[in-house]
Amino acid sequence: MAAILPPAMLGILGGGQLGRMFAVAAKTMGYRVTVLDPDENAPAAAFADRHIRAPYNDPAALRELAQSCAAVTTEFENVNADAMRELAKTTRVSPSGDCVAIAQDRIAEKSWINKAGLPTAPYLAIESVEDIQVDLAPYLPGILKTARLGYDGKGQVRVKTAAEARAAYANLGGQACVLEKMLDLKLEVSAIVTRVSAAQSAVFPVAENLHQDGILDESIVPARIAPALAAQAQDMARKLADALDYVGVLAVEFFVLADDSLVVNEIAPRPHNSGHYTLTACLTDQFQQQVRALCGLLPGKTDLLSPVVMVNLLGDVWKEDGGEPNWDVLMEAPNAQLHLYGKKAARPGRKMGHFNVMAATADEALEQARALKDTL
Ligand code: ADP
Ligand code: MG
Repeated sequence: MAAILPPAMLGILGGGQLGRMFAVAAKTMGYRVTVLDPDENAPAAAFADRHIRAPYNDPAALRELAQSCAAVTTEFENVNADAMRELAKTTRVSPSGDCVAIAQDRIAEKSWINKAGLPTAPYLAIESVEDIQVDLAPYLPGILKTARLGYDGKGQVRVKTAAEARAAYANLGGQACVLEKMLDLKLEVSAIVTRVSAAQSAVFPVAENLHQDGILDESIVPARIAPALAAQAQDMARKLADALDYVGVLAVEFFVLADDSLVVNEIAPRPHNSGHYTLTACLTDQFQQQVRALCGLLPGKTDLLSPVVMVNLLGDVWKEDGGEPNWDVLMEAPNAQLHLYGKKAARPGRKMGHFNVMAATADEALEQARALKDTL
């Protein structure tokens, strides 16, 4: 298929921070951008040529997007996969509706990961109350996760006993869930692959991810793991993308266990928070890759220019009256780059921005990043 070149119009479903950074990348390359998002203050709208304000599944809005855009992508997996399939009838779409459908359902996702020959935590798929009447011992202590619509640790309950698991399932209203065995994690890492075709893919350097209350807090690159293990994570990400015949940017989250084995946690059919370091520290960033894959261009080179640490800025960092943090020290630091998403209300747990710090080593970058965060 012929590549889509500037100044073609590109569409994106969803106008949050990921859509915003996609729009910046696309606009920088000379494309035009249309965002579909119901929120008039959608972060991506500030950088878009056009903002269609409508629900994500609004048929007229989707038709308009398909007719006016040379290609359409998404910034989140909770769009209706059928909407993506519908768009694909008349315009170029990546990732495919089928891949989005897999990534938005933990049951389909885990069975796909296993089918691709890669390990997950032991899990039980619970589609109805009968499914949870079996022996739960292999999954306990565990985490009950809703199959759909979970993010940043939401929709998850930690359970120790079978009685607790059954009560938690009932509490979630009987919606489809997975019960997953709680693993003893040494580390968490992620690998983000950009795939255009079987012959053309590129994987970013592996990030080590530290979470706070189920939300990504810091990403450290290079991850502090053996190079062979990082290479294995990259291979696994590529293998998954191949198994899905994936076109676009695919993020793969892994657990590193005590014996240095890798388990796939989950996948995201889009750029990922743990890839924001690429905005500062890679030859091509993950949003440029999203544009490139969407337009049928080859993936850009993913070389790491410098060790880097990304720190997420949640609403908690803002003053209680909503006042801005003290940006002065961070803004003066020559090796730090601040990215704010232009969100109006700073609620606790809400992702408001991030900053990247580059230094000679990852440990040095981490130390400086933490010191800078303390000045906010
Ligand atoms: P989300 O979609 O909210 O990111 P995840 O499944 O990635 O959900 O879970 C969020 C975090 O919870 C993980 O990054 C990890 O720290 C922890 N976690 C999830 N599943 C397990 C598990 N099976 N064992 C240990 N920790 C887990
Ligand atoms: Mg996760």
